[in-house]
Amino acid sequence: MTVRVGVVGTGMIGSDHVARLSTQVAGAAVTAVFDVATDRAREVAASAGARSLASWQDVVAADDVDAVLVASPGEVHPEQVVACIAAGKPVLCEKPLATSAAQAVRVLEAEVASGRRSVQVGFMRRYDPGYLDVRRAITDGVIGEPLLAHAVHRNAGVPDFFRGEMALTDSVVHEIDVFRWLFGAEIAAVTVVPVRRSPLAAGDLRDPQLVVLELTGGQVVTVESFVNCRYGYDVRCEVVGSTGTVSLDNPRTTAVRTAGARSERVPADWQERFAPAYLEELRAWVDGLAAGRVDGPSTWDGYAATAVAEAAVRSSREGRRVDVELVPRPDLYA
Ligand code: NAP
Repeated sequence: MTVRVGVVGTGMIGSDHVARLSTQVAGAAVTAVFDVATDRAREVAASAGARSLASWQDVVAADDVDAVLVASPGEVHPEQVVACIAAGKPVLCEKPLATSAAQAVRVLEAEVASGRRSVQVGFMRRYDPGYLDVRRAITDGVIGEPLLAHAVHRNAGVPDFFRGEMALTDSVVHEIDVFRWLFGAEIAAVTVVPVRRSPLAAGDLRDPQLVVLELTGGQVVTVESFVNCRYGYDVRCEVVGSTGTVSLDNPRTTAVRTAGARSERVPADWQERFAPAYLEELRAWVDGLAAGRVDGPSTWDGYAATAVAEAAVRSSREGRRVDVELVPRPDLYA
């Protein structure tokens, strides 16, 4: 069986997903796309042998679309995902599920009312071989009881429109999800600690920032967010347990030793670093659909991550620790 996918949003990540779905994911075909940038949509459609349609609603309604991949900007995700639920079509929605917790609750309520899980959120780190190893070390008890973690999330640079709060809602949201998943707990409180500003940060960008996440299990995570580090894309972490630690480094281990120095490659960007994770995410989604199930990161995960990111923004603005208040978790996500 071939899963026929419609793609809404063919920008940076949408076009990457179209290429992966049409050339590297067995059992999938991209049949229809939409983007407000129509030229780009046409180009991407042609590359995959798909149709470029006049609206995202047309993609959701198309007879030759079994499932939808939403890769439009975050603000329009809730409306588009709720339309997919109403049409009875499974949807893989890129993160964030929504740009506010209230909007994410809208999606949650629509999916709960439909009575079944049909939404997956694009937290692809859960498919990354390195993070999967970290999780196994925790669940297999290799490091004893997990107590705390340190993480760094550095980008070489960001576009001019990027603001410090976007580092929390667009970048750190990945750490928010991944540590909920690794520790099997919710985040109860968040504090954004101001840090001396890099002299190389553009405009009024507040960078770097230190984010402290407190989990309901008592674990504490420190996340350094530095979106303007200049040297590469560097995502690492170390989880400290009662009898050991497990750390995740950049995946390439080739080292060059020459002229009295040892050097290792640092990935250039997220496309390079997480390429295997994006591919595995899509393969698992398509395989699940073919078997009649959706079991990746859920609407609840998308909602919880958005609620924590929102609390982080409040902490940053108000200069204080902020408790995260979540709505009761529906049984659908038990
Ligand atoms: P992008 O390059 O700006 O692409 C988004 C595209 O959607 C643009 O072509 C945009 O057109 C178009 N668009 C605007 N409104 C739309 C609508 N109502 N319906 C359909 N398309 C619409 O952004 P991107 O980097 O691909 O990001 C897209 C989403 O993926 C974001 O939510 C982002 O956070 C997420 N993302 C996730 C990861 C990850 O690691 N999982 C990585 C990157 C991005 P205009 O430019 O003309 O507005």
